[in-house]
Parts: sequence; structure tokens; C-alpha cells
Amino acid sequence: MGYHKSIRLGENFYCYVWMGRGNNCNSSLLCDVLRGKHPHVLIDPGHVRNELGEPGFDSLTQAVENDGFKMEDVGLVIGTHSHPDHFEAVAPVVEKSGALVTLSREEDEFYRQVGKMFFSAFGAKPPQVNPSFYLQEGDLSLGAKNRLAIKVLLTPGHSPGSISLYLEEEKILLSGDVVFFGSIGRTDIPGGSISLLRKSIDKLSQLDVEYLVPGHSTEVGNIISGKQKIERNFYMVKMFV
Ligand SMILES: [Zn+2]
Repeated sequence: MGYHKSIRLGENFYCYVWMGRGNNCNSSLLCDVLRGKHPHVLIDPGHVRNELGEPGFDSLTQAVENDGFKMEDVGLVIGTHSHPDHFEAVAPVVEKSGALVTLSREEDEFYRQVGKMFFSAFGAKPPQVNPSFYLQEGDLSLGAKNRLAIKVLLTPGHSPGSISLYLEEEKILLSGDVVFFGSIGRTDIPGGSISLLRKSIDKLSQLDVEYLVPGHSTEVGNIISGKQKIERNFYMVKMFV
């Protein structure tokens, strides 16, 4: 318990930065944006339990509760990609809430053909998911009268169907495992491509961003705040690719 740090970046937007010693992703919650009894959108629920036995999902559930929300009230889970450290806990979220699940078509195909095997490497069970719809490049409208539009960007390279999410109004970019503070996503794993990652980094670097929320923290940090710092980070990581 207590492995996540909650950071509120917008009126309806909370980041849950992973603070454990072992591996897990950062998660995010868009709260009260969907119609009906399950109004929250959870992005990248992460591991149920990681390689050190740290209970990622229980910790996230607690962190979300501390902010006044319930995992049971999640209506949609978005996966930036299907790797176990982002996607494993989709299963218990769906079990608790009955939430719909979405990711890109490319990632779903990869998950079915190859990605599921990554889970056994972690001693984990791949979640049985049937995406309700696929994420496509462009606006994803949520809520009553489509009052919130998230921009979905296809950003392959780390995984074939990786996506990033951009909240235009708040200038928040969720970059998944494309770019981190001082670093970039791995491409030496099945499905990885350095040339695709380079293009994806280029694409993200053109957005007007005030908060960059990466899929993982590094030794340098986690969320990057401020346009200049973010531009500098893009400039630096481009030297790696
Ligand atoms: Zn990954």
C-alpha cells in the first residue's frame, strides 16, 4: 500500500506516479467525465503485483480512494499499450467495475499474437479483454454532449500499437512509453522499432505541452512541467534515436 503519489494536474485529471522500488507504470484518472454511474476513465492501471511483490493495483485503488473516487466507478480503461506493467491490472478493474476497455487495433492484434506471452515471463496471467472499440488517431469524445475530447495519437515504436493521449485544453500529454524524463522507451523487445519510435517522438515534440506525463519515472524525475523544459527534453532524447 501507499506506492503511488497523487498529483492533480487539471480539474478532472489526476496522475498517480509510481513510487515503488520495482517496476510499474504511472497511472492516470480522468474523473467524472462519462455519463452514467461509472463516470471515470482510468489510463494504464499497471501491474497487479510486480517482480518485487509490490501490490500495484491495491496501492492504486487506495490512492484513487484517497482522492474521493472508487475503482468500482470506472467506466472505461484505456491502455497506452499491452505490456504487463501497464495492462495487467485491467482484469481486476473490469472485475470490480464492469468497465469497458479500449486500446488501438494494432495493439490488440499484437497482444493476441505476441503480447500475451510477455505475461508468462512475469508469472502473470494475461487479462482476457475484448475491447469495446478501438482507439484511432484523432478525437475521442467523452461524456455528455462530448464535453471532453481527448486527442489520440498513434505513436508506435516501443510497441506496434502504442498510443499517446493529449488533453488540448490543459496542454497535458500522456506519452506512454514513447518518451520519459531524460530517456525513451525500449525498442529491443518483440514488437519494438527504433525507426517508428523516432517518428513518434518527432510527432509528440510538435505539440504544445505544459505537462508531460510519461509512462514511467526515471532517475531524473517523472512529470515534466513547463514548455521550455519539455522542449529541452525532446531535444535531448532525439539524440538517442
Ligand atoms: Zn511498455
